[in-house]
Amino acid sequence: MSIKMEFKQPTVLAVDDIPSNLDILVAHLIEEDVELMVALSGEEALALVHQRRPDLILLDIMMPGMDGYEVCRRLKQDPSTADIPVVFLSARDNEVDMEKGLSLGAIDYINKPFSIPVLKARLRNHLALKQKGDKLAELACTDELTSLMNRRHFNQVFRQEWLRAIRNKSQLSLLMIDVDHFKAYNDRFGHTQGDACLQAIARVLSMGLRDPADAVARFGGEEFVVLLPDTDREGAAKVAERLRRLVLAEALPHPDSSGCFVSISLGGATCSPEQNMAELALLQQADEQLYRAKRHGRNCYSMEHRTWQD
Ligand SMILES: [Mg+2]
Repeated sequence: MSIKMEFKQPTVLAVDDIPSNLDILVAHLIEEDVELMVALSGEEALALVHQRRPDLILLDIMMPGMDGYEVCRRLKQDPSTADIPVVFLSARDNEVDMEKGLSLGAIDYINKPFSIPVLKARLRNHLALKQKGDKLAELACTDELTSLMNRRHFNQVFRQEWLRAIRNKSQLSLLMIDVDHFKAYNDRFGHTQGDACLQAIARVLSMGLRDPADAVARFGGEEFVVLLPDTDREGAAKVAERLRRLVLAEALPHPDSSGCFVSISLGGATCSPEQNMAELALLQQADEQLYRAKRHGRNCYSMEHRTWQD
């Protein structure tokens, strides 16, 4: 995950059961800097939203089958689509309908027939707000120094994977990682180089994970954490050893470390999550193993697998 946002043309989905209404929108929005998609029914709109995640939806209300209100209600109920701004475009220009549409979570309600320049101006404003919101959301889950996911976001991912493992009755592994003698490194080289060291390690850890489901986060200070869904103890031990070697292979000089190079210690734990367990226990177990690895002289990993009761 990167903090740098690449410029992406916003996508807008226009939904209306009357094709000529869509033609008008397409004709006028073509010169706007947006990618326009169209749907002729509420059902088609929902399917497209889940496929393409538009940045904004222009939504007709009166449609046969699922009407616009119902489409909006479903979008707002689903956390994965709730943040997509909905703008109602409707011939129903009475207070009751407008209030209803806005109360369902629509960001705006525009009466038909509408002025094209005003529609375009509103669209630009809503898209600019959406872009800001997206950027804030990304910043809120990214560690500024390393661009890895931060601890807050990691906790969310951990929770999701924990619940998934309960559902699938699969194993989940976690590695806690600490940079060896990092305080001494900072004392000798200063914080700027210390930061560069953490950035290098973050890069190595992300490159060292092969399964797209694996997640690495900065846990805090010089601590990192790796989540390995659907991975048993043996698999987790392999990843731990690979990461340890990769960091050492960077050969970052560290005169105050016994190996003369920057190294990491890792503690791992594996479990098959069940309903009555708390995911915190897995973290604590991995942490205990990390301290064991440190006591064993660092630059190594320690793994434990046991079942426990909460
Ligand atoms: Mg209609």
